[in-house]
Amino acid sequence: MSALLSAHQSIGIPQPLKLFGTPEQKKKYLPRCAAGAISAFALTEPHVGSDPASLSTTAVRDGDIFLLNGEKLWCTDGTLAELLVVMARDPATKKISAFIVDTDWPGVKVEYRCHFMGLKALANGVISFCDVRVPRENLIGEEGKGLRIALTTLNTGRLTLPAVCAGIAKQCLKICRGWSNARHQWGVPIWKHEAVAHMIADMAATTFAMDSVWMLASQMADRGGYDIRLEAAAAKEWNTVRAWEIVDTTLQLRGGRGYETESSLKGRGEYPIPVERMMRDCRINLIFEGSSEIMHLFMAREAVDKHLEVAGAMIDPKKATNEKLGALGGILGFYAKWYPPLWLKGFSALSQYSDWGPLASHLRSVERSCRKLARESFHGMAVYQAKMERKQGFLFRAVDIVMEIFAMSATLCRTRRMIDDGHPEAQQAIELADLFCRSSRRKVRRLFHELWSNDDAVKNRVAASVMGGRQAWLEGGVLDLGLDERAFQTRSLVELRKQLAETDAIPAATG
Ligand SMILES: Cc1cc2nc3c(=O)[nH]c(=O)nc-3n(C[C@H](O)[C@H](O)[C@H](O)COP(=O)(O)OP(=O)(O)OC[C@H]3O[C@@H](n4cnc5c(N)ncnc54)[C@H](O)[C@@H]3O)c2cc1C
Repeated sequence: MSALLSAHQSIGIPQPLKLFGTPEQKKKYLPRCAAGAISAFALTEPHVGSDPASLSTTAVRDGDIFLLNGEKLWCTDGTLAELLVVMARDPATKKISAFIVDTDWPGVKVEYRCHFMGLKALANGVISFCDVRVPRENLIGEEGKGLRIALTTLNTGRLTLPAVCAGIAKQCLKICRGWSNARHQWGVPIWKHEAVAHMIADMAATTFAMDSVWMLASQMADRGGYDIRLEAAAAKEWNTVRAWEIVDTTLQLRGGRGYETESSLKGRGEYPIPVERMMRDCRINLIFEGSSEIMHLFMAREAVDKHLEVAGAMIDPKKATNEKLGALGGILGFYAKWYPPLWLKGFSALSQYSDWGPLASHLRSVERSCRKLARESFHGMAVYQAKMERKQGFLFRAVDIVMEIFAMSATLCRTRRMIDDGHPEAQQAIELADLFCRSSRRKVRRLFHELWSNDDAVKNRVAASVMGGRQAWLEGGVLDLGLDERAFQTRSLVELRKQLAETDAIPAATG
């Protein structure tokens, strides 16, 4: 249900129209959405996923209309939707625009309903567009700005998932608390075994942090006037990964019952606690609305962009030596002001935040980590220079540190607010915030260490060896699934149907 609502409300018609729509578009379509018309967001294509800039659906300008042709994959709500936001490219200018498309129009067809390991009720499908006539007034925002519109829409759209994930974590905590009290093994409730107790303590502390993260990011979005790109990405990435870990722990604590389906539990007379289903439903959160890797890249770019801009000609391999030397003055000028305070401020920070009581040391640690991370990204730039953009090992660890810092900040601020408001559960919140920050700080220390002490180079070498086929010997001794190169081809359903014009049957890619 949350995926249905998220696709409609956050990335379907309402959000892009709110942000970029004309008054006429808002007047025409928003009341329709409010009255119940479901909408969907159509960006992904069979051959284009994380890199939507290379999408191939076309919108050819023809006087006052655009002719839309192409195919969109995995369109959530697509099989129910009355309205779609479709991103398509003008083949002449190569630029991408966003359009409002009515699924009633001739040429729009739901080709196929997709099914997944979880989210079984998700109305999701392949939609084709064959010479669909889209009036010019249905262009959202400026012509050629469709990708920016899609990505901006996703910024706030992404906030649904972290909230959903906090909900999942709460549900898991409830299940684990009840079960670990009730289930006795070796003569005691299982939570009395230290390993289980630790899992439950971590789960509670992390759930509190997840709740704090989505609340902070959403409040910033609601307040407006602030670019929440990074906070939304951090909230999406951090909460989705934590939810997956928590569901995994829940399944572990439920033991065999965690792995058993609801209907099987019910069939033999036990209460159908749906942990197996939660696990299947939860996994997709790490993939859609920007996969974990893409979220890391997105945040990393923001972190290094300024350095790349300042370094400019100096790190550009195409520039001549005299041009590089010419750029040196500007670079030294920038870093002479920027770098020393990252060290010096440390001394003044020692006594800061004393009014934060038991939380003060955590806040000081957050502050120190921020400065240290800024220094380390500069050191990374100095070492890797223009290659930095491709150093995902380094960058992703830096982003992991950023997210921990963000989660600690959100948790500490929320706790402080609860204390200041005289919240009846403030003491319990302090306990959770303290545990969360202790383990988060430990993680941050490890990540800082691994920025410079890691196996990245060895992994790059082994990956090249695996991908070059030199380790294929290792894959012997298992059943042959027929995985030749055809098995990995992505396919356009419409193209395939054209090839097989006279039959509805779609043969498997191989076999
Ligand atoms: C249930 C479901 C609902 C969906 N709903 C919608 C929807 O409503 N509208 C819509 O437009 N799309 C939708 N999608 C598509 C979804 O957004 C994509 O699956 C997602 O963007 C990833 O694209 P992909 O699956 O093609 O993976 P790919 O882009 O092929 O990526 C494969 C793997 O490579 C990694 N990778 C790719 N590039 C990089 C890189 N530069 N660096 C490091 N790693 C990289 C990815 O993280 C991933 O792990 C949905 C998908 C599903 C399964």
